[in-house]
Amino acid sequence: MANLKPTVVVIEDDPPIRRFLRTGLSTHGFTVYEADSGKQGIIEAGIRKPDLIILDLGLPDVDGVEVIKTVREWSAMPIIILSARSAEQSKIEALDAGADDYLTKPFGLGELLARTRVALRHWLRTPEQNPTGEFTTGNLRVDLINRWVHVGDQEVHLTPIQFRLLSMLVQNAGKVLTHHQILKDVWGPSHTESSHYLRIYMSQLRQKLEEDPTQPKYLLTESGVGYRLKV
Ligand code: CA
Repeated sequence: MANLKPTVVVIEDDPPIRRFLRTGLSTHGFTVYEADSGKQGIIEAGIRKPDLIILDLGLPDVDGVEVIKTVREWSAMPIIILSARSAEQSKIEALDAGADDYLTKPFGLGELLARTRVALRHWLRTPEQNPTGEFTTGNLRVDLINRWVHVGDQEVHLTPIQFRLLSMLVQNAGKVLTHHQILKDVWGPSHTESSHYLRIYMSQLRQKLEEDPTQPKYLLTESGVGYRLKV
C-alpha cells in the first residue's frame, strides 16, 4: 500500500451518497470503483480485487448481508458497511457475516477516512502479511506465537481463557467483533448466549492491560454490538 494507490469498491444505490464517497475517497488518494446494486458490486469486487469494500446494507436487488457472504467465500478483504440508524439488527448480522466495521448514516468525511485507514491497517496485519505474530498498539505488545503479553516493559500474566480472548482480538485488531462471534470463538458454539462470561473476562483483561480500566484505550466497547481492539 505504501507506493500504490489503494483501491476501493463502493456499493451504494443512493447517488448523492455515492458521489460523496467517490469525491471524498479519490481526493484522499484512493482509486474508486462504483456499483449501484449488490449484484454489480459482487462483480466489481471480483474484477477489481480492491483493498477495501464500502457497502450499503439497503440495496435494491440483494441484501447487503448476502453480498458480504458471497465475497467472504473467496476473500477476507476489509468490508465497511453503511447502515441506517434504525437498522441495528442488520448491522449486527452484517458483522456476524464477516464485515469489518460500520458507519452509521449520516457520517462525515473524517469518520469515513478514519475507519478506512483502520480497516486497511488491519488488513495489512493479517498473518500472511505479518508472519511473526507480534502485535503492538500503544504500550501493549502481544506475541501470539511465543504467548507473551507486555504492557510497557512489564510482562503480564494471563489465564488461558484471557489469552484466548486477547488472541482473538489481536487476530482481528481494528475490526468490530460482535458478542456472538467472540463467544463462539473463545467459549464455543454452545455458549453464544453467555454474554456475562464475556463481560467478566473483558473486565479482567482491562484490569490487567489498561492504565485506567474504566477509560479503556485498547479494549474498546462498541455499544450494543461488541468490542474492538484499537490498532
Ligand atoms: Ca440504500
